[in-house]
Amino acid sequence: MPPERCAYALARYSRSPDSIRQSLDWVRQHDAQQFLEHYYFQYGHASIADLGHLVLCFEGISELAAVEIEDEPLWDGQARSSRYQDFAQAGFIVPPELVTDVDRARYAQSAQALLEGYRRVHQAVQELLRERYPKSADMDAAVYQRTIRARAFDVARYLLFLGVPTNVGQITSIRTLEKQIRRLKASPYQELRELAEEIAAACNRPPDLQWAAAAPAEPLAPTLARHTSTDSYLEATTKDLAEWAQQNLPPLPRPQPELVDVLRPEDPVADVVATLLYPVTHYSYRQLYSLARQWSSRQRNEVLDLATRHRRSRDELLRAFRGAPYVIDLTVDIGAYRDLHRHRRCHQFRQPYSTAWGYEIPMWIREVGLATVYHEALDQAYATIEQLPALGRDYLLPFATRIRALFKMDFAELDYICRLRTSPKGHFSYRRIAWEMKQKFERLEPELGRLIQATPPEVEDLLTR
Ligand SMILES: Cc1cc2nc3c(=O)[nH]c(=O)nc-3n(C[C@H](O)[C@H](O)[C@H](O)COP(=O)(O)OP(=O)(O)OC[C@H]3O[C@@H](n4cnc5c(N)ncnc54)[C@H](O)[C@@H]3O)c2cc1C
Repeated sequence: MPPERCAYALARYSRSPDSIRQSLDWVRQHDAQQFLEHYYFQYGHASIADLGHLVLCFEGISELAAVEIEDEPLWDGQARSSRYQDFAQAGFIVPPELVTDVDRARYAQSAQALLEGYRRVHQAVQELLRERYPKSADMDAAVYQRTIRARAFDVARYLLFLGVPTNVGQITSIRTLEKQIRRLKASPYQELRELAEEIAAACNRPPDLQWAAAAPAEPLAPTLARHTSTDSYLEATTKDLAEWAQQNLPPLPRPQPELVDVLRPEDPVADVVATLLYPVTHYSYRQLYSLARQWSSRQRNEVLDLATRHRRSRDELLRAFRGAPYVIDLTVDIGAYRDLHRHRRCHQFRQPYSTAWGYEIPMWIREVGLATVYHEALDQAYATIEQLPALGRDYLLPFATRIRALFKMDFAELDYICRLRTSPKGHFSYRRIAWEMKQKFERLEPELGRLIQATPPEVEDLLTR
């Protein structure tokens, strides 16, 4: 059933004595668009749009775009696995922000060097793993090959970058889809603004692919397609907060950040103020929170007023107003961030991409004797990034690059993440981060921390998938 008709049928079902069969007959004979227009968009009964779901697949988008698409708490989906697929096959995307031939050529040269490094590291790590971990007699040969290949991709992925193409399949309600389109339209990246237009256009026509060939060819979500304006509250407020931070924040020291910092903020207003400023600066949450605690009520109100002055009646408050008892400030490689970003039972905030915190060097790189190849590819990419225009340059950021992101969550989610992400079948980068989360949390909150059953990084089983 097209999602808007499904939403209509279920909404009507809740308010009429009819059976679902009768409701479906009704919906067949009536106009779902008129109903949704009236109840969803005019009366603001947004939960009606929870009742229709839509599957969308994005093919050949950049990794940078994939991260933005997935940045929805009420989102279900899967992306191409960097553990099971060879990313060197598909080349790279040249961002539309690079307009001159010189910039495009510079970008292409560094991108090719990264992909060449990726191939070489993958090959060398596979060989070393086969030597160190020979196949046992009882292990299936194909499974063994696949596992070794996957583990080698775990190391090679540090040389992938945000401009490599990927595919994402998602299933969301049309309510989430509306938010996603509006948020993407407010993105500073052209690729994402164009994708938002493409999603809206796809909603306005029959599905490109359908399981049953005989299904009626009617548009999927035409009412939604008409109501997807840019999220101007988000767009204007982000700009205002960035300007405010630049003009008003005192210069703070910028020491090399810790991998994981865990806090339990006790002042909810300072927490909101710090969270509003976090994504538009490069300061740690701890620094911003301690500043906001010292500020007068007038200073805090300045930030809070800025964060609400563009809000219109139907806009939900910005995500930064959401909270949870524990705050985890991470400075981690983009590859690990991509993995942890997928956790939905938490509130997340990322700082702008930058090269300021340097890059990670997995120990396997030295073991296979490719440290020079690795450093050369990354250093060349970093040098090129300095020469490229803003936004376009972000596509060249290797997954090895450290970035800062904030996660707010309750104990149940912290327990879930620490358990799942320390499992020996996981990637060694997020295993180290999740283990550190447990250690720091246990120091902060010993009674709860002791309950987390996490596996230390030393426990290894490379042949477990
Ligand atoms: C070893 C490994 C390999 C992976 N490989 C891939 C891959 O190849 N491609 C890929 O795209 N992703 C991959 N992932 C990521 C994975 O698909 C999830 O995105 C990630 O684990 C976060 O989702 P979660 O449900 O585990 O946790 P969270 O999103 O943190 O959710 C926590 C809990 O909340 C509940 N919950 C959250 N959302 C829902 C929901 N919509 N419906 C019902 N319950 C919900 C569940 O109980 C869930 O366990 C991999 C993860 C691991 C650990």
